[in-house]
Formats: sequence, C-alpha cells, structure tokens
Amino acid sequence: MVILEAISKNFFLYLSNNKLLDRFAKRFGSNFGADKIVGGETFSQAIPLIQQLNYEGLVVTVDHLGEFVDSEEESRDRAGECIRCIQQIASNQLQSEVSLKLTSLGLDISHELVMENMELILKEAQKYNVTITIDMEDSSRCGATLEIYKELKKDYPNLGTVVQSYLYRSNEDLDDLNDYQPYLRLVKGAYKESGKVAFPEKKLVDDNLKHLIKKNLLNGNYTAIASHDDAIIDYTKQLVKEHNIPKERFEFQMLYGMRNQLQKDLLQEGYTVRVYLPYGEDWYGYFMRRLAERPANIAFALKGVFSK
Ligand SMILES: Cc1cc2nc3c(=O)[nH]c(=O)nc-3n(C[C@H](O)[C@H](O)[C@H](O)COP(=O)(O)OP(=O)(O)OC[C@H]3O[C@@H](n4cnc5c(N)ncnc54)[C@H](O)[C@@H]3O)c2cc1C
Repeated sequence: MVILEAISKNFFLYLSNNKLLDRFAKRFGSNFGADKIVGGETFSQAIPLIQQLNYEGLVVTVDHLGEFVDSEEESRDRAGECIRCIQQIASNQLQSEVSLKLTSLGLDISHELVMENMELILKEAQKYNVTITIDMEDSSRCGATLEIYKELKKDYPNLGTVVQSYLYRSNEDLDDLNDYQPYLRLVKGAYKESGKVAFPEKKLVDDNLKHLIKKNLLNGNYTAIASHDDAIIDYTKQLVKEHNIPKERFEFQMLYGMRNQLQKDLLQEGYTVRVYLPYGEDWYGYFMRRLAERPANIAFALKGVFSK
C-alpha cells in the first residue's frame, strides 16, 4: 500500500509538470472532477461560492490559478487579474484574502518584472486592506521568494508567505523571518523534492511542521496552520491551550472541497477557518498535486469524468 501510494504520488507530481497535458486540459475544460476543488474559471463564478462560505462563517483566500508563465505580457495580465480580484473583493465586501504565486508574476523572467507586478498588486491591496499571501513553490524558488517577501514586507504589512516543513532550510528561514513579524502559513509542502533539500520521511516532515508551528506561535507571529491532518490540528489545539495563545493569533486553513465537516467543527469550536479557493482556467497543475497528495481524491475525480 505504501509502495503503491509512493508510485501514484510520483506519477501525479510528474504529470503536474507536463506542459502538453496542461494545454490539453485547458482546451477541454475541467471535465475531470476539478470543479469539486476549484471555484470556477473566472472570479465572477467564484463570487457566489465565497459568499456562501462567508455566510457559513468561513473566511477565504482566493488564488488565480496559473503556472508556467514565461512571457512578460502574460505576467502583466496575471497582475491585472489580481488587481481586479482585489477590487471585486472590496466592492462585494467579501471576507477574502488573495494568494498568489511569484512565477505567475514573472519570477522566472526578471527580478524587476516580478517586483513591479507585486508593487502594483500590493498598492491596490493596501488601498482596500486586503491581505496578500505569497504561496511557496518548489525549492529552487524558495530563496528568491523569501528575499522578495522580506523586501516588500517592510512597506506592505498586510503581506504573508508560506514556509514548508519538508525543507531542511525552513527552521533557519523562520529565525531569519522573525525580525519581519511575518504572517506565515505553515504547510508540509506539495512539490516533488530531492532528499538533498527535503526530509524524505513523512514522520520527519510532520514533526518539523509541529516544531515550526510551536516556534512561530511562541515568537508571537500570526500563524496559519494549513493542513488537513487531524494530528497536526490536535497538536495545535493542545499547544495554544497550554500556552494560552489567543484565537486571534492563529487560524486553520484548508483547501476548498477538503474535509468540509472538519472545517465546520473547528468553526463551531470558535476557531478561525480559512478556505483556500482556487479559480481560473489553469487548474491542471493544482489538480494533479492534489491527486498526488491523496489518492482517495482519484475516486471523486473519476466520478467527475464519468458523470459528465
Ligand atoms: C490552505 C493551504 C495552502 C497551501 N499552500 C501551499 C503552498 O503555498 N505551497 C506548498 O508547497 N503547499 C501548500 N499547501 C499544500 C501542503 O503543503 C500539503 O501538500 C497538503 O496540505 C497536504 O498535507 P496535509 O498536512 O494536509 O496532510 P497529509 O500529510 O497529506 O495527510 C495526513 C493525513 O491527513 C488526513 N487527510 C489529508 N487530506 C485529507 C482529505 N482531503 N480528506 C480526509 N483526510 C485527509 C489523512 O488522514 C492523511 O493521512 C497548502 C495546503 C493548504 C491546506
């Protein structure tokens, strides 16, 4: 079973990087069950979903899906989409933040381009008091992403980023970020990484996530615990109780469509729960990474294929 899971994980992570399949998926639409975990192809389609989630008491972070951006023009279009999204969050009074990926804004093209795009987005976000979180991508981009985060955080306090517990470097990164009073989302990590940079064993990744959660909370920084894992959630609940950490200092985050009952239970217990809601035409890479994480997701994905 463990071997089977490892094979399917590697298989889906491999597929997540396949540009040909990405193009195919875009062309033929989200006929593969992606609509269960993606909020629609446009932000307008996602608005009623966000309103419903807010009505239930859940807060949201939206992410305009997009990877493999390799032209300046496309990166500027992506920045424009983020800005329109911020404006619509404000005009519809949605309880929502925005998550984004630096590669979609030109990280792989030039530092100037990504900074220019980020400044435009953050100025608009500041105007409407919308928080922006920079998602963390694969380890080759981690250093550059954190440098950009630190550079921008000085001028834009409503800026968060992500630290992944599977990376060896993350403990030091947390120390380094501490001076910036960071808003951090702590996760296990979703990309295929080598043993040179990441813990190969799940137990070590889980232990390190607990360690990072404790450290960031005790440092007094706002912490988003982004996991569907009962063990991590129970650990956090116990920790905040022991150290009298108020509920305003942290939140739980889960992906849209995952563990809906648990989201409601946490809400009932008085915790803040934020749902990560992706939208856009570029759902393919995101969808494949979710399949890699949890082969059980394959069941509803296939159901999606056959029910259309
Ligand atoms: C809000 C959010 C934002 C994220 N942002 C990033 C990011 O910027 N960069 C990045 O690399 N990764 C990101 N991730 C993904 C993250 O790194 C993990 O890959 C992903 O969350 C899977 O790890 P896990 O802690 O949820 O549990 P896992 O380690 O995958 O699973 C542990 C256990 O939890 C339970 N479980 C997990 N999922 C489910 C489910 N769907 N239904 C029922 N039980 C389940 C099962 O018992 C499972 O054995 C994000 C995740 C979330 C929730």
